[in-house]
Amino acid sequence: MRKPEEQPTFQEQPNLFSDFSEVPLPEEPVDDVPPPPEEDLPPEGYDQLFDSTRDSAAIVPSGRREKREQIPPKKADTDLLTGLNPQQKEAVEHRGSPLLIVAGAGSGKTSVLTRRIAYLLHQGAAPWEILAITFTNKAAAEMRERVMDLVGPQAERMWVSTFHSMCVRILRANAHLAEGLNSNFTIYDSDDSKRLISMVIKDHDLDLKEFSPRGTLSVISNWKNELVGPDEALQDAKVSSNFHREKIATLYKAYQQRLRAANAVDFDDIIGEVVAILRRSPEVTDHYRRRFRHVLVDEYQDTNHAQYVLVSALVGKGPDMAELCVVGDADQSIYAFRGATIRNIEEFERDYPDARTILLEQNYRSTQTILTAANAVIDKNQGRRPKKLWTDLGSGQPIGGYVADNEHDEARFIAEQIDDLVDNEGFQHKDIAIMYRTNNASRALEDALVRSGLPYKVIGGTRFYERKEIRDLVAYLKVLDNPDDTVALRRIINTPRRGIGDRALALVTVHAENLEIPWAAALQDAAEGKVAQLSGRGRNAIGGFLEMMTALRKETENADMQASDGTSLGLPDLGKVVNAVLDMSGYRAELEKSNDPQDGARLDNLNELVAVGHEFSQESANLKAYIDMPGDTDGESEAEAMLSEGEAPLGSLQAFLERVSLVADADQIPPESQDMITLMTLHTAKGLEFPVVFLTGWEDGQFPHMRALSDPTELAEERRLAYVGITRAKQRLFICRAVTRSGWGQAVNNPPSRFLAEVPEELWEWIREEPTFAGGSGSYGSGSYGSGYGSGSGGWSGSGGYGSGGSTSFGSTPMYRNGGKAAKQPAPSTRSSTGRGGKPLELAVGDRVNHDKYGLGSVKSVDRVGTHATAMIDFGGSGTVRLMLVGGLPMERAVVEY
Ligand code: ATP
Ligand code: MG
Repeated sequence: MRKPEEQPTFQEQPNLFSDFSEVPLPEEPVDDVPPPPEEDLPPEGYDQLFDSTRDSAAIVPSGRREKREQIPPKKADTDLLTGLNPQQKEAVEHRGSPLLIVAGAGSGKTSVLTRRIAYLLHQGAAPWEILAITFTNKAAAEMRERVMDLVGPQAERMWVSTFHSMCVRILRANAHLAEGLNSNFTIYDSDDSKRLISMVIKDHDLDLKEFSPRGTLSVISNWKNELVGPDEALQDAKVSSNFHREKIATLYKAYQQRLRAANAVDFDDIIGEVVAILRRSPEVTDHYRRRFRHVLVDEYQDTNHAQYVLVSALVGKGPDMAELCVVGDADQSIYAFRGATIRNIEEFERDYPDARTILLEQNYRSTQTILTAANAVIDKNQGRRPKKLWTDLGSGQPIGGYVADNEHDEARFIAEQIDDLVDNEGFQHKDIAIMYRTNNASRALEDALVRSGLPYKVIGGTRFYERKEIRDLVAYLKVLDNPDDTVALRRIINTPRRGIGDRALALVTVHAENLEIPWAAALQDAAEGKVAQLSGRGRNAIGGFLEMMTALRKETENADMQASDGTSLGLPDLGKVVNAVLDMSGYRAELEKSNDPQDGARLDNLNELVAVGHEFSQESANLKAYIDMPGDTDGESEAEAMLSEGEAPLGSLQAFLERVSLVADADQIPPESQDMITLMTLHTAKGLEFPVVFLTGWEDGQFPHMRALSDPTELAEERRLAYVGITRAKQRLFICRAVTRSGWGQAVNNPPSRFLAEVPEELWEWIREEPTFAGGSGSYGSGSYGSGYGSGSGGWSGSGGYGSGGSTSFGSTPMYRNGGKAAKQPAPSTRSSTGRGGKPLELAVGDRVNHDKYGLGSVKSVDRVGTHATAMIDFGGSGTVRLMLVGGLPMERAVVEY
């Protein structure tokens, strides 16, 4: 399990470069290296070619001639201005001096930039004269697409890209001018960089605690963003007698040498190296200045110093200066940790004294309610320029608020709500986005969405259960659970490598086929020398593997889940099991000794799987505790009834594997174009919009992030992030918080986010304001069987007996097919949760009920356990079960028609 101090920090979550994860230019693969700059220069006579009767075939690559027919008829200039408000129009038409468009969210900044490009093309600018810079590759693709819609395929090859994509292109074309690089250089992602810096730190015999890879890299990254090289960094550190920084500067130098020795660059280098080339080579600078006559930058508030210098270098100064147009919103500056500085916006007018500034004030995206909420929150930031932003889209619906017991309850609520929005309110899945502060929050949401059968797509990060290393480890678990699982066995037999070659395996297969015995049995024969032609080495290696598995199985049997006082809870601790696999298989050792930068990240993921296993066992133990409750004489049979219908034994490895497979089933998620819910971090959501937005985890410590609580500068940045999140929503906004949330295996209670109180009261409609439990009362906390089983085990947290209790990664969240509609509802005074229908069930003896899992049943008795009402229900063939009548139970009273 990750130790708390190793938790991803604010600095790292979300992935620093999540938006640049596409940096290696998926749409512009390495072999599609742009032609040398010279070839980009206008062909002779281009002016005529580009005229209104232009033949696009002459200016697009031959393979794209079929687009010829698609050229829209030439629009009048006024067509391209249609629908714009006067300020937008002015921004599109402005020519000459530098142009700054500053405006709040949803006011059409990006739209104006797009329109402006189309307008410029239309007025005769050549596509290669335009350089448009967006924050993500997706935004770039969209912008290009829109421009093509407006002016036709001539825009297709135009440089609309991110800073990183564009700089990679420039760097590849000019790599010979960069020290130590040639044009097939590799780009190291942040994990690779971390691995490399770790090696460097170790080489310098420095303590990894004092010089943590992440911390060291962050200092180096800051230097790079400020265009400070290793020598200068060292000099500065010496001058200020800062020994620690001096050491980091030394590491910086070594790191840089190692990068270049590998013909590699990190993300920051991509920009820095281009700036260095432009500074070093006036010819190259001149070339690009002649080429890019129009430079347009979206999201300018998030440019850092290096990017600022790059833009300045490209546009030049004086009469030959290119036309520069930047758009931004200081309130949406959320990348300070990556060196972004709103100074670049604030000082634009100083840097370019003849600059024109245009303000946009009408928001076209959101309802007034959403806009008022956003404005109220951002207004709490000090020292900002107040903005007037209005919309004529009407007040719309109130903001839906939900207080969840834990992250699983939160996820369940969202899934339920989405079902309702889709079934009853005409939204499609693709209209909906769920946003969180840090990437790790997606897991509980994914679990709930998978269970509800809702299609979704997680942006950023590979899906956890799809990772190779996770699959490998799960394959071990599968073999432990079922020694005959040939597919899993084959996967692990030589992973990590233990000298069992393909030939040996082929011989085993032949033996199995000849004798018609299972592959596992043939393996046993191989170890006993009964497989023909198998070498002694092969035999020993297979024997060693089988012995290891036997030892592992034994270890697994002893991996008991223990209560806080050390007594056995009668269930395996699957965290220990995963750990044993990691150790005994040699998997961990192999990753630890590897030099591959990616192996460190793999190890982290596997440690996360240890946490997942442990959480699962914790949840199962909590449930078992209820079933075994003293005085509950029916415990056993109830448990049996519950676990009938072919379910794996409670807390077993098999049960765990079932859950894992369920999540992994999502492998078949259809591609992007299809109707899916989008999950992403707030950072990633910048610039996007969705009809429906769910913002999760509004808890102090979660959002605002822990590190921001005591730091006004960081708190202001978090508030901007809240502003970004709120303003993504067009029609409906839901904001949730959870009372308990488990991070990296530990459950913590967080107070409500301070941002919640900043949203005016009258804008809310609280769907649920209080959790079902206050924590700590009664012998089992106030956890409920119904909700413990039904909506994660958060109900158990705070219970005296089970320590952290806590929600689990898998919280057995049920499927609520008929999600409760968001209804204005007072906070329940009893400890109850909304569930189907939003209220705890009130049942009487003789009532008929319909349970999602057990089917129809009749109520035999109603009584109380702790503070909750319970009912004993006879489900016929499914047995008799006692259920707690809290909300969130996948059951409703059956209407019996006669
Ligand atoms: P953000 O600050 O979030 O990046 P933005 O200022 O870039 O937002 P856009 O994304 O360009 O805003 O526009 C927001 C929405 O408003 C889009 O759906 C866009 O199509 C629409 N929009 C912009 N201008 C107009 C207009 N003049 N008439 C109608 N709709 C418009
Ligand atoms: Mg925008």
